Amino acid sequence: MAGLYVHIPFCRAKCAYCDFYSGPLRAFEARGYFDAIARELAARRGEVGQFATVYVGGGTPSSVEPSFLAPYLALAPGERTVEVNPEDVTPAYAEALLAAGANRVSMGVQSLVDSELQAVGRRHSADAARRAFATLRAAGFDNISLDLIYGLPGQSRESWRRSLDGVLELAPEHLSAYSLTYEEGTLLTARVRSGKLEEASDELVEQMYCDLCAAASAAGFVHYEISNFALPGREAVHNSAYWDMTPYLGLGPGAHSFDGSVRRANPANLKEYLTHPETAAEVEHETADNRFNDLLITALRTARGIDASVFTPDELRLARTLLEPAPEGRLRIAEADWLTSNSILLELIR
Ligand code: SF4
Repeated sequence: MAGLYVHIPFCRAKCAYCDFYSGPLRAFEARGYFDAIARELAARRGEVGQFATVYVGGGTPSSVEPSFLAPYLALAPGERTVEVNPEDVTPAYAEALLAAGANRVSMGVQSLVDSELQAVGRRHSADAARRAFATLRAAGFDNISLDLIYGLPGQSRESWRRSLDGVLELAPEHLSAYSLTYEEGTLLTARVRSGKLEEASDELVEQMYCDLCAAASAAGFVHYEISNFALPGREAVHNSAYWDMTPYLGLGPGAHSFDGSVRRANPANLKEYLTHPETAAEVEHETADNRFNDLLITALRTARGIDASVFTPDELRLARTLLEPAPEGRLRIAEADWLTSNSILLELIR
């Protein structure tokens, strides 16, 4: 079974740290965009088998009416996730999303401290995020994931704990937390370069990561991937399939696909995509070593780890010195080393 990813490349405003492909939404674009998505799906449907899961990401999927998403959410019997931004979640929106077929929501909260949200250009307040969560619950969503960012400008360990505690008090089923990265071309990176902003120190980020692991564990969450925590049985099925090399089809500009052996990428250009969505995907030529490295990098981000049989005898000898045994004959990076896993990956990469 495969995964379906639908990219919604629209955002109402650009967050200061974000380098994802997205642009402003104009009302007339949504219909034309979904026509193009339908054409791409019709042309490429045969690349993978039946869909088990759907993930609608962005951009900001909650910037479009849920009725546009319904035909895609209907394509999978399993987990059907839609990313939402707090400022879009009204009772009418939440009910429409549920009626459109979503059974899981991933909401970008990022922080529960207003000054931190403002510093990175988020359009919602901490209270709006809390209200949006309550609205989703009231509509009937019983599988909600919340996103947080640590290492934000002006964030202290104490304010991070406040965001963490506040989010855990809401009692979501899943939590994703990422350390802020300074990507090329973003407003935040420009501010650092011009001396207007200072990056959080590695030491502070490490402490925040440890606080995160401790708080999530105390709240009963399983740390199943470097940045992801879930109540038992609530791990993200769609994303876990990415880490396991399950095939997936990605629709929309900037989306990636993998049919089990070949990777494809759609150029991140809306205008180009709208002109010829059927032939947008370009093959990314991969060597066997590239494939091994992809598997290594993704699988070793997880508590499940990697199948030891993928290593040559020499590699396996080295891997056994760097990794710990995991169930089912697998090997994994010990949780305590996840934050510094790059040095281990560099030793094992081909
Ligand atoms: S973080 Fe999300 S909402 Fe903000 S610009 Fe990026 S994709 Fe859009």
